[in-house]
Amino acid sequence: MLQSARTKIVATVGPACGSVDQLSNLIRLGVDVFRLNMAHGDRARHQAMFDAIATARDLTAIDIAVLVDLAGPKIRLGDLFAGDLDLAAGDRVDFVIGTVATSSHELTCTYEPLVNELEVGQHVLLSDGLIRLQVECKTSDRAACRVIDGGVLRGRQGVNVPGAHFSAPALDVVDLDNARWAVGQGVEYLSLSFVRRPEEILQLKELVRAAGGHSQVIAKIEKREALDCLDEIVKATDGVMVARGDLGVEIEVQQTPIQQKRIVAACRKYGKPVIVATQMLESMHTNRRPTRAEVSDVANAILDGADACMLSGETAIGHYPSDAVTMMNRIMLETERAYPDREDSRFQTPEPTTNITRAMVQGAGRIARQLSAQAVVIVADSIAAARYKSQVRDFIPTIALSGHRHVVRGLALYWGILPYYADPEEINGLPKIKAFIAERAKTHWQLQDGDRVLLVIDSPDNIGEHDWMTVLTVGRD
Ligand code: PEP
Repeated sequence: MLQSARTKIVATVGPACGSVDQLSNLIRLGVDVFRLNMAHGDRARHQAMFDAIATARDLTAIDIAVLVDLAGPKIRLGDLFAGDLDLAAGDRVDFVIGTVATSSHELTCTYEPLVNELEVGQHVLLSDGLIRLQVECKTSDRAACRVIDGGVLRGRQGVNVPGAHFSAPALDVVDLDNARWAVGQGVEYLSLSFVRRPEEILQLKELVRAAGGHSQVIAKIEKREALDCLDEIVKATDGVMVARGDLGVEIEVQQTPIQQKRIVAACRKYGKPVIVATQMLESMHTNRRPTRAEVSDVANAILDGADACMLSGETAIGHYPSDAVTMMNRIMLETERAYPDREDSRFQTPEPTTNITRAMVQGAGRIARQLSAQAVVIVADSIAAARYKSQVRDFIPTIALSGHRHVVRGLALYWGILPYYADPEEINGLPKIKAFIAERAKTHWQLQDGDRVLLVIDSPDNIGEHDWMTVLTVGRD
């Protein structure tokens, strides 16, 4: 357990990995969080996938987490009039009002006001940006577009209009329904696509609070508008996803690497976990081995300070989901071995704080290093203490021990944290905590007699008002 990668793996669930056996296998290979993408499938399918994950989690006895990804104001094409449409530069197609195309060159979409809100001269990107149209003229019921870059168009594909400020709500009725379902299932993370403003994140957080859930909210950054108020969004959210698929269409694709670094740096600055997503091992859809460029992409995300890397189609619909997870884990372990000095001064947070928990857990890492201790164990009733520890990339393995499942699973995304569940009775009070650690140290955590462990207790029920810290020696205490 203490030898596992510090960086976390998020894997998207789909037909290629949806059985209990396949999911259990991916958990054993290192997946920390499974993503359910609400943009595809219906409630029955989402429920079946969630139930399969829950069964795999029970079978493996590894507390992985679930991230439900809400589609948000993503615009999609409707069905095409006569199936796939081969468009060549110079062709004309019209966006029309309504949901039914009446000729092969009419396009409909899921966002009713699109025809009204499009402006003459604007570019419309389809098929992940491969097909580019330009709006030439408008009437009350259609926006006539000229094809600039052609390609084969399929129904239900995404529609991006870079730079446009559409009036669509952040969460429509389907998103709200999916969000309530997800909170009801107890999912650990809820991500919102196409976030534009911090208020949208606050709205989703309020929904979670009102429903009495514990889900943490993740802002997917994939719009220029979000980049324009990045700090405010990062401050408002519990975590961030660099959603490079749509981001690379909404802004010029050559701008994405620098924006990715900027987003990761903002998350480090405000101590929020960040997932780098999309096309990380893209060629592993059909190959057992990634390209050199893909391996470098994953390694660079880790070196920039990402908490997690995400697999999308590689695990959802690819031919080799297990190979993709295994490869990602290997790149993580190898890159982390070479992490600058195994301790990165960019991510230390030595500034004064009035927060006792933060000072204690971050200090525990420093003391552990001075004493050459093998691990920090944090006993906590909430995710806060381990989250502070995760902000300091000190490579001291950190076990977050809790008697609350939602705390254990809610920490799955946090860099360097190894969440561990204990029956609340087994860690009730200091003598029991010490006995629990003594029992697990060698059998579960690969520690040996004489190894030192920094113990921090951030659990008012257990010890008193403030956090409490001590050093234990395996085999003696
Ligand atoms: C993305 O756009 O990069 C992304 C992660 O979102 P989705 O997979 O829903 O397109």
